[in-house]
Amino acid sequence: MGKRPALPYRSARFLRPEAMNAALEGLAGRRARLVQWGESALGRPLCALEFGRAEGGVLYAGGFHGLEGISSLFLLNFAALLCDTLESGADGGLSGILGMRGLSVAPCVNPDGLAVARRGPRAAGRFSGLVREAGHWRRWQANARGVDLNHNFNAGWYALRRSEQAAGITGPCASQYGGPSPESEPESHALANYCRQAGFSRVAAFHAQGEEIYADYAGHAPDGAAELAERFARETGYRVARPEGLAASGGFKDWFIERFDRPGFTVELGRGRNPLPLRDLPAIFRRVAPAAVRFLSW
Ligand SMILES: [Zn+2]
Repeated sequence: MGKRPALPYRSARFLRPEAMNAALEGLAGRRARLVQWGESALGRPLCALEFGRAEGGVLYAGGFHGLEGISSLFLLNFAALLCDTLESGADGGLSGILGMRGLSVAPCVNPDGLAVARRGPRAAGRFSGLVREAGHWRRWQANARGVDLNHNFNAGWYALRRSEQAAGITGPCASQYGGPSPESEPESHALANYCRQAGFSRVAAFHAQGEEIYADYAGHAPDGAAELAERFARETGYRVARPEGLAASGGFKDWFIERFDRPGFTVELGRGRNPLPLRDLPAIFRRVAPAAVRFLSW
């Protein structure tokens, strides 16, 4: 991994769900297995590449929010980097690490939301009326049904709903509506099932933006989590932070911490206003990808 990593997936066309899944299929032909762990509200396959031993491994997931496609491209390129490294014959011990602790890379949890944020209501199929009525599709973070997936997990969800209502968020909209009940959405329910079945030892959810890492939920960080976050921050120059207000519960990593008491992180890639321009990707990748590889052996 000495030379600067190539980024084969840096154009916006890989944000199209079909192109992203085709890229994953191409990588699966190399050193990984392609698995489908769910289906979006519009029936799009939700896929991951699994490297090494599956049980008890690490999960890296991205693309939770419509305006954060850069996190999906980060993970797609990260999977390509792992394939390149494993095939290079000088993998720096990576195959040994993956043999002990596998990795699952799920670049896009919310393909419908990414499509809406890029192409507007017509990308929402049978939910196009809902998106049109909700408005603000250029700022769309939710899934096709107007539910913010990172508010839809069963961690402080009922209190979160009261806070949302107090903030005037009472139904489907572009962002921050937590849905009618925890895991009401096919994407969040499938991701939670994937975790329940795979028994991941740690998860990291990649979002944008802020150059931050979050490691605790409701004031609690599982054993070792704070040290892992500090180390990740030191190696990337990111900052360890605490979410506040409506971002402090109902999220994927919140649920993972509460459900399993194992380390769960949110990493906010890059800095600026979402959607970050894709020209930011190479610099983000250079800064974060090497630490994300080493993280597997910590
Ligand atoms: Zn996000």
